[in-house]
Amino acid sequence: MSTNNYAEYIETTARLAILKAKAAYTCKVHPEVLILSGDTNTEKRAYLIAQNTLKYNDKVFLLEKVTQAVKNELDLAGFACLQCELNKIVV
Ligand SMILES: [Zn+2]
Repeated sequence: MSTNNYAEYIETTARLAILKAKAAYTCKVHPEVLILSGDTNTEKRAYLIAQNTLKYNDKVFLLEKVTQAVKNELDLAGFACLQCELNKIVV
């Protein structure tokens, strides 16, 4: 796998872990947008799920990267979909 494939793999793993842990959910209109559930317990679970996925897939050397990726995704996620909020202002 090239570095690019790994970057994509890490991002996908992070997002799936976040969704599986219910730390965030996707906007009904914008599936690429994550909206935080606001529960710190589910966020902790998201980290564990992401880390366990890598252990299971024997990619332990990427653990630090996936931990950072989960953090990035959660940092980027808001409590509302920004794109929907923008649409509301326009309408
Ligand atoms: Zn939206």
